[in-house]
Amino acid sequence: MKKNDIFEVEIEDMSKDGEGIGHVDGLTVFVKDTAPGDRIRARLTKEKKNLAYGRLEEVLEPSPDRVTPVCEKARSCGGCTMQHISYSRQLEQKASYVENCLRRIGGVADAADLMEPILGMEEPYAFRNKMQFPVGTDREGRPELGFYAGRTHALIPLSDCPVGHPVNRELLQAMREYLSEAAVPVYDEETHTGLVRHVLTRVGFGTGQVMVCIVANGEKLPKQELLIGKLEQAVETYNRRSEDSPELTLSSVTLNVNKDKTNRILGFSSRVLAGAPVIEDTIGDIRFEIAPESFFQVNPVQTEKLYGRALEYAGLTGEETVWDMYCGIGTISLFLARKARKVYGVEIVPQAIENAKKNAKLNGAANTEFFVGKAEEVVPRLYKEDEETYRADVVVVDPPRKGCDRALLETLISMAPKRIVYVSCDPATLARDIAILREGGYHPKRVTPTDMFPHSSHVECIACIQKQEVKND
Ligand code: SAH
Repeated sequence: MKKNDIFEVEIEDMSKDGEGIGHVDGLTVFVKDTAPGDRIRARLTKEKKNLAYGRLEEVLEPSPDRVTPVCEKARSCGGCTMQHISYSRQLEQKASYVENCLRRIGGVADAADLMEPILGMEEPYAFRNKMQFPVGTDREGRPELGFYAGRTHALIPLSDCPVGHPVNRELLQAMREYLSEAAVPVYDEETHTGLVRHVLTRVGFGTGQVMVCIVANGEKLPKQELLIGKLEQAVETYNRRSEDSPELTLSSVTLNVNKDKTNRILGFSSRVLAGAPVIEDTIGDIRFEIAPESFFQVNPVQTEKLYGRALEYAGLTGEETVWDMYCGIGTISLFLARKARKVYGVEIVPQAIENAKKNAKLNGAANTEFFVGKAEEVVPRLYKEDEETYRADVVVVDPPRKGCDRALLETLISMAPKRIVYVSCDPATLARDIAILREGGYHPKRVTPTDMFPHSSHVECIACIQKQEVKND
C-alpha cells in the first residue's frame, strides 16, 4: 500500500490517544475518529515500516459502541477525540489502559486484582470549570477564538463547547465583539507579532465567581472599558437565560503578559483589569482562592470523588505527619489537614503557594506549612537538615504528566512513609514511578481510575502504595 490508497479495515482496538487500530496487509493502521468494532473505508495518509496512518473516509458498518457526537466540531477539534464512542466504552478503555500500564511498565503482576471500578460521571457534559481559547483569525482575517485542531495549531473557531461551562458561549461572543470593535491585533505565532494570544476563563462552580484572563504579548489592551463592559453584559445575559444557582458574577478580569516565543500559554504574572486578582471556589465545604497561574482541578464533580478517594487511601488517624507534594493551592493538603497532626505542602508556582497559605487561613488549618520550589530539591534539602521535623508517615504526590523526579522518589524511599498516595494524570509515568518505588520496598495495594476528562483520551488515577512489611523469620 502507498500514500492515498483506499483500503477497508475492521477496527479491533484503540490506541492510548483514542485512535482506532486495525490490521491490513501486514501493517498496523491507526485511524482517528473510528471505534473498535467499526468496519471502515480509509485513505492511507502516512506509512512507516510496519505502521500506517489513515484518514476515515466512510463507516461501512458501525460498531455497537459508536454514537453521534454532541459537538458538531468534534471531529476537527483536537480536544475531544472520543466523543463518537459511547461513554461506557470510553470508561472501559481508560480502565484497561491503566491496568495495562501497571502490568507492562510497572511490572505489577497482580495489576488486575488491585483495580477498583473506574469513577465515571453521570452527566459527562458541561463539566469543565476552565477553558483556554487560542485567539486567531478566520479565513476573512476577522478575529476568532476556538480550539486547535488535533496535533496542529490550526484554529477551529468555536461558538460554544459542550464540555465547558455554558457561560463560555456568551464570553466567547463578547471577546469576539471586543477584538473586532477595538481592532485589537491578534497574535501570530509564526511572526511573533500581534497582541492577544489566549483567553482563559474559569468558573467557580460552587461560588458562581467568573474569572477571565486575557493573555497578551504586551502590557496594555486598547479600549479596556469596552472589554469589561462586554464581559459584564455577557455574564448578565447568561444569568437571565439560566436558572443556575448560585448566579454568576464577573469577579476577576486580569491581563497576563506572555511576550515569549513559546507554546506555554500563560506568562509568569498577571495584573488586575477589573475586580479581584483571584476567584474563590469550594470543594465540599472547603473554600479556595485561585489565581490565574495556579493549577486547580478542572472537573469539580469528579474532583470531589478523587480527593475523597485520596483521603481514604491516606488512612489517617489524626496523629500523622503528612507531605503533600505538588500541592498547588493546597487543595488536597487542606482535606488531609483535618485528619492529620501536621501537613507540609510543596509546589513550584509561587502564586499557588500564596493561594495555599491564604486558603489555610481561610479554612482555619493552622497545622499546615507550605514551601515554594521544586519538590525534588526542597524535600531532600529539608529532610537532610532535620529528619525528625520533616519526616513523613504518609505522603501524597500529585505530579504533572511527566511524573515524579527520580531524586524525589529516592528521598521518599529514605523517608520510609507507611503509605504513598499517588494521584496521577498519566498512567504511564505512574507505572514507571511505581517500578522505582517497588525497588525501594513498596507495592501498590489499590488503584482507582477516575474520569476527569470525559471524551478525551486522558485518564486520571489514584494509587495506594504501601511499604511492604519486612518478614523476620
Ligand atoms: N495537588 C494539586 C495540584 C496538582 S497539579 C491539586 O490537586 O490541585 C500538579 C502541580 O505540580 C501544579 O500545581 C504544578 O505547578 C506543580 N509542579 C510542577 N512541577 C513541580 C515540581 N518539580 N515541584 C513541585 N511542584 C511542581
